[in-house]
Amino acid sequence: AEEVGGGDKEVVREYFNNSGFQRWKKIYGETDDVNRVQLDIRLGHSKTVENTMLMLTEEGSLKGVTVCDAGCGTGSLAIPLAKQGAIVSASDISAAMVAEARKKVKRLVAEEELLADNGGEAPVMPKFEVKDLESLDGKYDTVVCLDVLIHYPQSKADGMIAHLASLAEKRLILSFAPKTFYYDLLKRVGELFPGPSKATRAYLHAEADVERALQKVGWKIRKRGLITTQFYFARLVEAVPA
Ligand code: SAM
Repeated sequence: AEEVGGGDKEVVREYFNNSGFQRWKKIYGETDDVNRVQLDIRLGHSKTVENTMLMLTEEGSLKGVTVCDAGCGTGSLAIPLAKQGAIVSASDISAAMVAEARKKVKRLVAEEELLADNGGEAPVMPKFEVKDLESLDGKYDTVVCLDVLIHYPQSKADGMIAHLASLAEKRLILSFAPKTFYYDLLKRVGELFPGPSKATRAYLHAEADVERALQKVGWKIRKRGLITTQFYFARLVEAVPA
């Protein structure tokens, strides 16, 4: 099974509903039952979220801005976006991840934490849905898709990028594992998905390929970032209509 949309997608869904869910829930969480590698990935990923928030807020307030968070995981980005007043539609192929995201929001509401950054006014909670990227529709000011492209081979990534761009009115933010680190990463990718049962493949993407896919549908890259820790690498790009 090489292709997302065929066998690969089912493997990815199955992984993120089971062993992958257990693993990533911990990495994206706050508890200290993580090993050194997981802690490093947690740090890298949190920097990606931080940089994304910076890219977004640099252009002005997020109040009332509609955002589609495609492949939202446990809500690591959706929740801070909502805190800033964005109207967030978040979705993920994994029902387990979505359930965890909803749980997190409930907890924050109970703790009244969501009031904090919004001048005491309760923000609109993100809407979480179980849905794969391919079936997303509608129009949003901003579409964000963080660390999901790793599940797509470049042949499928082009179509996915085109689809996400078609949903976005003003900007599209993507993060992906850059191909530059390919050889270095091969070893480390093995650590992300260890063991014989976790057969999800990891695909790296050359920045030039992502840029070409964006250009093909009339978009250009406006900002770029690179996040690296010991075990985490992400290229972050913000694209706008050319
Ligand atoms: N974007 C989140 C973040 O940065 O916190 C989660 C990143 S996690 C590494 C990848 C996520 O992509 C998983 O939650 C997985 O279920 C989701 N995913 C993978 N393939 C997908 C697809 N075809 N449609 C929707 N979600 C998908």
